[in-house]
Amino acid sequence: MKAAAFDYIKAQSVPEVLALMSEHGDDARLMAGGQTLLATLNMRLSEPQLLIDITELTELKGIEIIGEHLWVGALVTHTEIENAALVKKYAPILCAAAPHIAHRAIRNLGTWGGSLVYGDPAAEWPACSIAVNATMVVRGLQGERRILASDFFVDLYTTALAPDEILMGTEIPLANAKQVFSFQELARRHGDYAVAGLAAVAKKTGQVFSDCHFVFFSVATTPVAAVQAQSLVNDQAVNAELIAAAVAAARAEIETMEDITNSAAAKSHLVGVLLERALKKMLAE
Ligand SMILES: Cc1cc2nc3c(=O)[nH]c(=O)nc-3n(C[C@H](O)[C@H](O)[C@H](O)COP(=O)(O)OP(=O)(O)OC[C@H]3O[C@@H](n4cnc5c(N)ncnc54)[C@H](O)[C@@H]3O)c2cc1C
Repeated sequence: MKAAAFDYIKAQSVPEVLALMSEHGDDARLMAGGQTLLATLNMRLSEPQLLIDITELTELKGIEIIGEHLWVGALVTHTEIENAALVKKYAPILCAAAPHIAHRAIRNLGTWGGSLVYGDPAAEWPACSIAVNATMVVRGLQGERRILASDFFVDLYTTALAPDEILMGTEIPLANAKQVFSFQELARRHGDYAVAGLAAVAKKTGQVFSDCHFVFFSVATTPVAAVQAQSLVNDQAVNAELIAAAVAAARAEIETMEDITNSAAAKSHLVGVLLERALKKMLAE
């Protein structure tokens, strides 16, 4: 199928984008990598009158250290994250997760911000952003505001971003030497969307874990943190007994949702499998 006709503007500045969004409202769509948007236009799931291409906006590009944070601009591509030395050092779980996103051609164009704003519950970045405790920096005509990643994903494909706001990028607290992580994903074939996945990050001192984030994706309508399992493990020495208790807690607390090929019960089983693998991997580091 082909997209319905639309007007196209390559925006040159953030104020220009905000003015266009305010003028055209729901008739306009922002385009970053286009890897999701263009498919929805071609399938006529969405028929905007105006496409605002944001790919020239330098303010939304780049990966850098700003103060205590790693800044990842919304237009940074999946491939740039995969290869960035700063990300490897300060948010290494993102480098581990990136190769699981689709295939190289899509990773070369698709962006960090586009994936976060789209809010696909099966996508890797939303879960990772919560696991690394990221803060979304968004801008609208009223100014800038910050939203914790844990508050950003509110429902299926729905985020806390207002319709007239743009995601500028995210601030990620810098990982230190104590941080351990494990990225686990089960997919039918490499590059497919996950059947179930887990982004796990913790601080480790000896065998004691603290500041645990166990965030599952592709199991519910949004990425979901296993908060009971996190509190069970926090500030405890991890051993086989504690791992079994955390696995049971995660299975009990996460209300899994079936998809076209996997039942809710299968996903619930996988929640436990992934958490056990992640905890064992982090313990062994
Ligand atoms: C075959 C295929 C397989 C894929 N497999 C995976 C996968 O395994 N895992 C995965 O996570 N993704 C997968 N994707 C999606 C891919 O990662 C997309 O690149 C990503 O979801 C969207 O990023 P984008 O830059 O292309 O955004 P676009 O398609 O340009 O935009 C997506 C949405 O976000 C909005 N938007 C974009 N940037 C901003 C911004 N800065 N501020 C406000 N709104 C914005 C747009 O208006 C649009 O609504 C796949 C895509 C394809 C085509």
